[in-house]
Amino acid sequence: MQEDVLRSIAAFIKENDGFTVIAHTSPDGDTLGASLALYGTLKRMGKRAEIVCEQPVPHVYAFLPGADAICLPEQAVGMENAIAIDCADLARMGAAGRLFQAAKRTCNIDHHITNDSYAAFNAVDAEAAATGEIIAALAALLLPKIDDAIATCLYTALLTDTGNFAYSNTRPETLHTAADLLACGADNTEINRQIYRTVPFAKQKLLARALDHMELYCEGKLGISYVTLADFAETGAKEEDTEGMIDSVRDIEGVEAAAFLRETPSGSFKVSLRSKRFADVGAIAHALGGGGHKHAAGYTAFGPLQEAQAQALACCTDALREIWKEL
Ligand code: 5GP
Ligand code: MN
Repeated sequence: MQEDVLRSIAAFIKENDGFTVIAHTSPDGDTLGASLALYGTLKRMGKRAEIVCEQPVPHVYAFLPGADAICLPEQAVGMENAIAIDCADLARMGAAGRLFQAAKRTCNIDHHITNDSYAAFNAVDAEAAATGEIIAALAALLLPKIDDAIATCLYTALLTDTGNFAYSNTRPETLHTAADLLACGADNTEINRQIYRTVPFAKQKLLARALDHMELYCEGKLGISYVTLADFAETGAKEEDTEGMIDSVRDIEGVEAAAFLRETPSGSFKVSLRSKRFADVGAIAHALGGGGHKHAAGYTAFGPLQEAQAQALACCTDALREIWKEL
């Protein structure tokens, strides 16, 4: 992130009051952790602020300090200044996009390469492993010291978007920032326990369905799985319980690209894409109206299941054929 961009956003925050911080729909650890850290920073500066997400906070992130302050768009006041966090485009805000559009001044802080710079202030750094990395640098310009609550939120953002500091987006700066956050009071063991070692029984039952539906294509280089509304109903699992399930498809030996389809109550499918090394799944998702990163992306497909699956299969096969002509 360029110093001057960050400094101009710090100045914008110092000079104004009344902020609506917006996390993206289907919230993950980065959008929630980074949004809560910014919200906490604003509150400690004595600013009026609110934090909004289209969906309730997933149970796994309820431990984040300040999580109970997150409100739904219909409960929000709609302040003069809106700051979108980890949202590559306006559509990612869902119903909260209305608050963003109504604001006098708008700011977009994100790390997706597909970000289309939709705000007046755009701080987009595709090199950052997580939006939390950018917010950590911003908070350092705004507060004399980051406290343990803010450090916990930021550490969670970094931890979840890097797959426990394992993905290729983990760079030296990411680990330096993580080390600083531990020094500020983030508890690595406790955060890991909350996020990865406290799995609801229904989620494991849903995972069993996802593993059962898994198929390989393209000589084992492509894996696809899905869960339907019936799977949710029969296991008692919730939408948020699909988080991380695509990893079981991606992690199979020989698989380069993976797709995971989750049926939504409207009958459409939320599709997650992952790749290991070569395939650019962000480009696939972007072409289908979604977005993301080279190795992790998503889009919405319209049902029925067979059509959504066929579309994912065709698009991923094309991308793999660009790498392996013989497929
Ligand atoms: P996930 O598969 O975990 O939901 O998302 C993987 C990555 O793709 C995340 O960085 C997420 O923000 C992005 N992503 C997922 N779905 C969409 C979408 O519909 N639109 C855009 N622009 N990005 C998405
Ligand atoms: Mn992110």
